[in-house]
Amino acid sequence: MKNNGKQYYVDAAARSAEWHAENLRKMRACRFDTISVHGVYSMQEALDFNQGSIIEPMYMSTSQTYRDSDEMEAALGYEIPTWCYSRIANPSMYYLEGVLALLEGYGSGIETSCVATSSGMAAIQSAVEAFLVVDPANPDQKMNFVATCQLYGGTFQQFAIRKDQERNIEWRKVVNSNDIDTWRSLIDENTRFLYGEMPSNPGQAFFDLEKVAALAHEHNIPMIVDATVATPALMRPIEWGADIVVQSVTKSLMTSGFGIAGAIISRKNLTSNIDNDAMKADFAMYLKILPNRDNGPSISPMNAVLGINDIRTLRSRMDLCSRNTMKVAQFLEGHPNIEQVDYLGLESHPLHELAKKYLVLVDSEYDELYGKKVNRYGHLMSFRVKGGAQAARDMFDRMQRIWRATDLGRIKSVATIPAISTHSQQGEEGREIADIPLNLIRLCVGAEHPDDVIDDLDQALRAEGKKSFHVPGPEYSAGGASSATLDRS
Ligand SMILES: *Cc1c(COP(=O)(O)O)cnc(C)c1O
Repeated sequence: MKNNGKQYYVDAAARSAEWHAENLRKMRACRFDTISVHGVYSMQEALDFNQGSIIEPMYMSTSQTYRDSDEMEAALGYEIPTWCYSRIANPSMYYLEGVLALLEGYGSGIETSCVATSSGMAAIQSAVEAFLVVDPANPDQKMNFVATCQLYGGTFQQFAIRKDQERNIEWRKVVNSNDIDTWRSLIDENTRFLYGEMPSNPGQAFFDLEKVAALAHEHNIPMIVDATVATPALMRPIEWGADIVVQSVTKSLMTSGFGIAGAIISRKNLTSNIDNDAMKADFAMYLKILPNRDNGPSISPMNAVLGINDIRTLRSRMDLCSRNTMKVAQFLEGHPNIEQVDYLGLESHPLHELAKKYLVLVDSEYDELYGKKVNRYGHLMSFRVKGGAQAARDMFDRMQRIWRATDLGRIKSVATIPAISTHSQQGEEGREIADIPLNLIRLCVGAEHPDDVIDDLDQALRAEGKKSFHVPGPEYSAGGASSATLDRS
C-alpha cells in the first residue's frame, strides 16, 4: 500500500485552518458572556472530533497517534496542527487557551494568543525568563528588569531570590508604581522588560498602565502585567498597551477552588530589544512550542477543563462578588475598630479616580440592568485593625464564616494575614517596601449574601477574646506537609 505523502496532510490542514479561522471570526463577533460560555469549542469541533459532546472533553491521554509516518513527520515539524504530546499541547489545554486569548483580546481588535501553565507562578516564570536570555553580541551584560514592589508574595520571592540573588539579574524596584518618573529613571539599555501587578495583591496598588506601556515601547521593551485580581471581566491590559498578561487562573478565573493553573496571553508582534523574530511575532505560541516544551511547565488537562468550566460565568460572578465587596468595604470603613480600608472602589482610596479609568465591568453598557458602563473593582480588599498585630490576629481568629486560608478569588469568603502567610518570606524590609504591616488582613469576599459576611466581621470585631474553634490535639489529617506542623500546637 502506498503512503498518502506528507503533502496530503498539509493540504488537509490548510482546509481545516479555514473553518477554524471562520469559527474564530464568528466568536470574536460575540459578546463577552457568549465567548466565556463557548470559547473556541464549536459544534463542528464537537461533531467532527468529539462524538458530539456538548462539553469540552477532558483528554487525559499523554499523546496522539498518527495515521502514518508522513502525518507524523508533518506534525512533529509543526506543519499541521497537532497536539502530539501533552507536555507541549493537548486538546483540553487548547480549549482553555482559546477562550482566554479571546477574552483578554475582547473588544480591542488586537489579535492575541495564549499558553496555559501549571500555575500562575509558572506563567510568570516562563513569561519573564524568555526575556532574560544572554545576548550573544554582549554576553557579559548585566541584565535588569524594572518591576513594582507591591506584588504577590510568590512573585516577590521569584524576583528577589531566584533572579536577583541567585542569578545576578537585577530587579530595579518601583516603590511608588503610580510615579511615571520613577519608572523612567530606572530604565537603561540593559533593561529587558517592565512588569507590574494591578490591582496588586493585597495592597491594591495601581498605576496608569497606558503611560507605563508607552514608556516601555519608547525603550523598545515589553510591558508585562499581572492582572489576576481584575480578570478580563474588569480589565484587559492588552487594550491599554500591555504586550503580555499573566494570570493566576487558580484565582477568580477558577473560582471553585478545584485546581491550580496559570496563563500567559500576548499580543501578536510584541515589542522587545531581543533579536528573536519568532518570539516577537507570536510570543505565547513561541513559548508553547519551544521553551515550555523544553522546560515543562504545562498545565494538566484536568485543571484545564476545571478552568474552562468556571470561566463560563466569569462576568456575572465578578459583578456579584465586586458588589458584595463594595458593601463589605463600606461597612468596614465606618467601623470604629478599623484603622484603614484599602479597596479601590472606595472614594477615599487615593487611586480611586485612576482605577475608574481601567476597572469597568465588561459589556455593562449592553446589560439591561445597567445600560451604561459601570465600574467594578473586584473582590480583593484589605483592612488594618486598630490595636496592632495582636488585635488583628484576635479578630482574625474570631471569624466564623470567613475561612482562614492563603487563598483568594474563591466563591467563598476567605481571609489571611499576609505578614504571617503569603508575604512572610520576604522579611520585614521586603514587607515595608511592599506596604504589608502586621495588622493588615486581606479579605476576598465571595458570593455569600454580603450581610452575612458583614455580620461575621462585626462579631469578630466586637467579641471579647473568644476564638471560634478549639485548637485540635494531635489528630491532624495526614494531608499535612510535615510533622513539624504538629510541634507548634
Ligand atoms: C496567586 C497569585 C499568583 C500565583 O498564582 P498560582 O496559581 O498560585 O501559582 C500570581 N499573581 C497573583 C496576583 C496571585 O494572586
